Amino acid sequence: MGFKIGCHLSSAGGYMAMGQTAVSIGANVFQFFTRNPRGGAAKPIDPADVAAFRDYAAEKGIGPILAHAPYTLNAAGAEERVREFAESTMRDDLKRLELTPGALYNFHPGSHVGQGADAGVALIAGMLGRILAPGWQTTVLLETMSGKGSEVGRSFEELRAIIDSTDGGDRIGVCLDTCHVWDGGYDIVGDLDGVLERFDAVLGISRLKAIHLNDSLNVRDAHKDRHACIGKGKIGLDALARVINHPTLRDLPFYLETPNDLDGYRAEIALLKSLRN
Ligand code: FE
Ligand code: FE
Ligand code: ZN
Repeated sequence: MGFKIGCHLSSAGGYMAMGQTAVSIGANVFQFFTRNPRGGAAKPIDPADVAAFRDYAAEKGIGPILAHAPYTLNAAGAEERVREFAESTMRDDLKRLELTPGALYNFHPGSHVGQGADAGVALIAGMLGRILAPGWQTTVLLETMSGKGSEVGRSFEELRAIIDSTDGGDRIGVCLDTCHVWDGGYDIVGDLDGVLERFDAVLGISRLKAIHLNDSLNVRDAHKDRHACIGKGKIGLDALARVINHPTLRDLPFYLETPNDLDGYRAEIALLKSLRN
């Protein structure tokens, strides 16, 4: 299978613009925010734009596209108002994503804000259980988190607990963020095989649907979450080259979320292609 590599793009110009931008920088996948990352109402989708994009994506071999929920979405919030916003936002996002069948939808599981991880897990699983309806075509991904603040989802066990508490079946997966797992304590530099074996033992490797490919400004186990450009951080180029070439990972789609403009992304994509073996 070919190398699926791309980056986060602005969704301001619509789907077709994202597809053309992706192609212009050598990408064949991309991620975008479903709405302002700080929350708020989503712009209406233009059906003609989606239809044109779907043809273009089929022609150019683009996909899967990865929609990212707003950061403010916190299903584990202590206030009902916060949890209601999370649920209505995810419901609306998933409805819109039915227009682009086969898309992935990634969200940060949430922050328990002092209620404790177990309570957070129960709230997140409760929301997913109410939202995930039979027949939906989008796979919902829990993102691995760095564990800053009271984030739920730093450990594979917490993600497993959420998945176990829903009956979402194979419509729930995991997006592994290399910066987050590193900051969360998993040694993907010294023992990538061991981390993936752990993932498989706890979650089952078939749950893994996407990789956020980022370097990290911080040392392992820092619980920080600050992304660095590829090869410019504490994970480093050699370790990230092993990630994109690992037999367990190489056929997954890779999405860069590094601090770059489009030229920077174009250069990183070219670099990573040169490192594929
Ligand atoms: Fe994220
Ligand atoms: Fe990420
Ligand atoms: Zn991050």
